[in-house]
Amino acid sequence: MLPFIRSDLAQFTAYKAHPGSDTSEPVAIKYDRIDTNESPYDLPTDIKEKLANNFQEIIESNRYPDGGHQKLKEAIAVYVNESANLTNLPITDSNISVGNGSDELIRSLLIATCLKEEGSILVANPTFSMYGILAKTLGISVVSVDRDEQNFEIDLKAAKLAIQDTQNPPIRVVFVVHPNSPTANCLTTAEIEWLNSLPEDILVVIDEAYFEFSQTTLVKDLSQHSNWIILRTFSKAFRLAAMRVGYCIAHPEAIAILEKVRLPYNLPSFSLTSAMVALENRQVLLNSIPETIREREKMITELSSNSALEIITSSTNFIYLQLKSTENQSLETKLKNLNQTLRHQGTLVRLLPNALRITVGTPEENLRTIERIQNAIKQA
Ligand SMILES: *Cc1c(COP(=O)(O)O)cnc(C)c1O
Repeated sequence: MLPFIRSDLAQFTAYKAHPGSDTSEPVAIKYDRIDTNESPYDLPTDIKEKLANNFQEIIESNRYPDGGHQKLKEAIAVYVNESANLTNLPITDSNISVGNGSDELIRSLLIATCLKEEGSILVANPTFSMYGILAKTLGISVVSVDRDEQNFEIDLKAAKLAIQDTQNPPIRVVFVVHPNSPTANCLTTAEIEWLNSLPEDILVVIDEAYFEFSQTTLVKDLSQHSNWIILRTFSKAFRLAAMRVGYCIAHPEAIAILEKVRLPYNLPSFSLTSAMVALENRQVLLNSIPETIREREKMITELSSNSALEIITSSTNFIYLQLKSTENQSLETKLKNLNQTLRHQGTLVRLLPNALRITVGTPEENLRTIERIQNAIKQA
C-alpha cells in the first residue's frame, strides 16, 4: 500500500472492462460482443465520412475544444422536446449539461450532493453498478434495497424505511434506471408515485439510458420537480459508445451547479462533433430500433419456449435471462457454466449473480445466440 493513498481505497478493485471491450486479451475468434448493450451497428459509411471530413476541415487539433457546449446543448434540447412530444418546447439549453459519458455526470452529481459526508445514496439492486462504484471511490456510503424477485419492482417499503432510518449522513440521492439495467423493466406507477413523494432535499436521478428503446420518459414531469434529474447517453441507441457523450436534463439551477463541478474541457472536439452529427442524422440512426425490438421479441419468444429458462418482458435492447431452479447443481454454478460455454463458442454475454444479461445483436448474432443457448442447455 502506498503510504500517501487514502486508506479506504486500498480494498477496492479497479473497474474491469467487460471482455468485449477488453483488447488486452488476444482475440482468437471473432466474438459476438453482446455483453455491453451497445448497438450492433457502427455508423453508416456516409456519416463516418462526414465525421472524417469534419476532422480534416473544421477541427483544429491544436485548439482546446468548445468548453461551453452551447450548440450541442441546443440540439439536445430540440431532440428531447421532439422525442417526448412536448409541443410547447419546455426544454431549452439551460436545462442541459453534457458529460464525458453519463458516468462523468453521475460522478459530478455525487460530488455536488454527497461529498464531505453530507449524504449517502440509495440504490435498488440489481441495477447499474456505476452508481455504487463511483460513490465508493468518493467515500460516499451506499444504501441498497432489493427488488421483487418476479417483476423486479423496487422494494418500496424497504426504500421508505431506508430513507427514514439512514442518518449521519442521510440519503441525499436516489438512483433509478427507467427502464432498469440489468432487469429491463420500466418504473411502475407505484415506483413513480414514490419518486413523486420524495422531499425536495433528496435528489432523484432517473437514468434513461435506454429511452430510445422504451419510448417512455419522465421528461414532461421535470417541470414539477426541481429535485429530479434525467440522465441520457449517446452510447446506446445513437451508436456512439466510442465517443463518450452523455447528457442530463434538469432544472436550470441544478444545471448551473453541474457546470461548476465539471472539468473545463470535459469533452474532446471529436466527441462533440460526433454527437452533433448523430443528432442531425437521428432519423437514419434510430431507424434500426424497430428491428432491435422485433429481434428482442423473437429472442424472448424462442428462448421462453425452453422450459429451463425464464425471461421477463424487456423495454430495452437486452434481455435478462434466468434459469429455473432444479434440484441438482446450484443455479449460480449452472449460470457460470452456461456463460463459459457461450464464451468458448464465441458469444460474450454479461454474467450476473442471478442471470445473464444478453444484448440484442444483429439478426445473425441473435440466431447464433438462441441456438448456442438451446444446445448448451440440452447438453448440460
Ligand atoms: C450504458 C448505460 C449508461 C451509459 O453510460 P455512458 O457513460 O454514457 O456510456 C448509463 N446508464 C445506464 C443504466 C447504462 O446502462
